[in-house]
Amino acid sequence: MKKITIAIDGFSSTGKSTLAKQLAKELGYAYVDTGAMYRAVTYFAMKNNWVSETNLNTIEVIKNLSNINLEFRFNEQLGFAEMFLNNVNVENEIRTIEVSRCVSKIAEISEVRTILVKQQQQMGKNKAVVMDGRDIGTVVFPDAELKLFMTASAQTRAQRRFDELVEKGQMITFEDVLQNVQERDYIDTHRDDSPLVKASDAIEIDNSSMSKDEQFNLVLLMVNEKLNL
Ligand code: C5P
Repeated sequence: MKKITIAIDGFSSTGKSTLAKQLAKELGYAYVDTGAMYRAVTYFAMKNNWVSETNLNTIEVIKNLSNINLEFRFNEQLGFAEMFLNNVNVENEIRTIEVSRCVSKIAEISEVRTILVKQQQQMGKNKAVVMDGRDIGTVVFPDAELKLFMTASAQTRAQRRFDELVEKGQMITFEDVLQNVQERDYIDTHRDDSPLVKASDAIEIDNSSMSKDEQFNLVLLMVNEKLNL
């Protein structure tokens, strides 16, 4: 059976990971959430006081990159891989609004990107992978057979993220989440190294008024078309 690489890029909270997980499960492919990797590096830097909402010690972050070991370990019960940082499960810690507020600053550092991109290319070298992020179709796998670029209005995305965070018990206002989504959009699209842009051969999907199932069925048709080529 032919194996392909599926690259899913797009703005924050556009449902990339939901779609990627659905596809990986359906196809028996690996799923790689590259945002989790940038979040884990950020969490490590926060714990060491190298980054906060107001500060960034780029030199310390770069100097200590070799002390950061990232690993995805599949959790059979949950049905997806969890992020381990230096052998510790940090899946919950990396999803907080505090990490979201700092992650785009860390993701701007070229030395961080170089290391993480190499690891991502290694993880996807045998194809049969669904990878989501901001630069997968442009930088990590420019030759991916299927590239999707996800968008939705900032309001819709903030509402989705807000509902998720509230469900996890985090104390947060909708305005805070909207502000964070807008700030990350700005930094992610304006940074010098690998900014978030739609690859010229990516298919754009605006899912503002699409259900998860509608979106999944639409993308599955695209996948099958690629598999039958
Ligand atoms: O996908 P998620 O929202 O968890 O990503 C968190 C942040 O990590 C993004 O806002 C972006 O700054 C950074 N990121 C990136 N490149 C990727 C994946 C994530 O710069 N491939």
